[in-house]
Amino acid sequence: MGALGVAVKSLGKAVSAKDYVHDVINDIRAKNPAEPEFHQAAREVFESLIPVLDRHTEYRAAKLLERLAEPERVLMFRVPWMDDRGEVQINRGFRIEMNSAIGPYKGGLRFHPSVNLGILKFLAFEQVFKNSLTTLPMGGGKGGSDFDPKGKSDNEVMRFCQSFMTELWRHIGPNTDVPAGDIGVGGREIGFMFGQYKRLANEFTGVLTGKGLNWGGSLIRPEATGYGCVYFANEMLKAQGRSLEGMTCLVSGSGNVSQYTVEKLLDLGAKPITISDSDGAIHDPAGIDREKLAWVMELKNSRRGRVREYVDRFKGATFTAADRSLGHNPLWDLKADCAFPSATQNEINAKDASNLIKNGVQLVAEGANMPSTLEAIQIYLDAGILYGPAKAANAGGVATSGLEMSQNSMRMAWTREEVDERLQKIMVAIHQNCFQTAETYGTPGNYLNGANIGGFVKVANAMLDQGLV
Ligand code: NDP
Repeated sequence: MGALGVAVKSLGKAVSAKDYVHDVINDIRAKNPAEPEFHQAAREVFESLIPVLDRHTEYRAAKLLERLAEPERVLMFRVPWMDDRGEVQINRGFRIEMNSAIGPYKGGLRFHPSVNLGILKFLAFEQVFKNSLTTLPMGGGKGGSDFDPKGKSDNEVMRFCQSFMTELWRHIGPNTDVPAGDIGVGGREIGFMFGQYKRLANEFTGVLTGKGLNWGGSLIRPEATGYGCVYFANEMLKAQGRSLEGMTCLVSGSGNVSQYTVEKLLDLGAKPITISDSDGAIHDPAGIDREKLAWVMELKNSRRGRVREYVDRFKGATFTAADRSLGHNPLWDLKADCAFPSATQNEINAKDASNLIKNGVQLVAEGANMPSTLEAIQIYLDAGILYGPAKAANAGGVATSGLEMSQNSMRMAWTREEVDERLQKIMVAIHQNCFQTAETYGTPGNYLNGANIGGFVKVANAMLDQGLV
């Protein structure tokens, strides 16, 4: 019998919630070998739930943790396509339909060579709690492929997207599963996939979000994750009577989330001084202003170039090439007030976190998913800085996808101001929920606990209501 079996059998003998959680985590490790990111995400959430499980034995009796850790469905499929030289290419496609207790599966598609089952399971798992926090009726899912759009022609990307959707389309639908973008999947890729879905299903519906404005997209959707993250950071500061005005900020990445994080930081009077890509980081002590940001957007979104070009264009900025052997990222070793990791998972390790604290950073708001290792998070919590975990801080993206779905269902389009106002209200509500939940469960100021517990309770109660499915 596995560790989990022991825990469940001895439930009546008052095994502590802490032991029960650790048994579940061990069982997840044993059952899902070689999926370290999934283990990490499960541990981060489940350890926060110990005070809830102490108070609510019904969740343990219904084996909710064990059920939450098992996807409702995992799809894995071959994606053959032909490159521009006429050579056959084969990639692997995935969709993880994690949990539909509170709505249709919802979550992005990631195209990146690092994509594998474990990474997508961690992302789908996170998405369940994040979507619950948004206040909107959305379940959790995630998908993608190990396809690398970098260096591919538009025609190659189109042929890949069409082949990917030729399998995926039969599994998704506006009331079943509604994918969106993520790393490597922006407006271009969503367009090609939507076109192929429409052709196969013979139906024009809101089956994807992040669509173009002329064909069902929502204003503010491209901006939403970055804007939402900055709104969340501002709420955390407001609760302490402070604001972002005049704050020096570190931002990583230079894609969708980073670009609009920088833009909103500028709107609120802060001074962003860094961006990066997988080749290295730019440090611009004078600050990345609107003119420089416009140039970065053109570089990344149209020319699809690399950030190192920034130093040729703007005097006073430096480029530091990425060096994995260093064991830490120099971007996080600069004097600043706030940090907005917006590139990818585990981009801040224990050393980086210590550097942030040493350099005076008082706030970390996660635009990327799981950008901080468990050790890094512990360092933030021990230092008592404001820490906005991804599932709360970056929920504005999926929340606005939810607003896109509503507009599609009603066949109408809200103005930019209307969507932005709703996004702000949602971020304020998420902050309030996390803040209050952390207090209710005896850990005031701990937004990690607040987000994990707040996201969990709604899904858990829905699962109890719906019986053993
Ligand atoms: P993009 O593809 O637009 O940009 C990703 C950026 O991160 C690029 O600058 C990329 O550099 C860098 N990056 C990606 N992988 C790595 C890596 N392994 N090492 C170093 N740098 C890397 O993606 P998004 O901006 O959409 O997504 C960024 C993060 O935000 C992800 O964690 C995503 O899951 C999360 N997120 C996105 C949402 C959205 O609405 N788009 C919603 C919620 C979360 P390069 O060009 O060199 O690859």
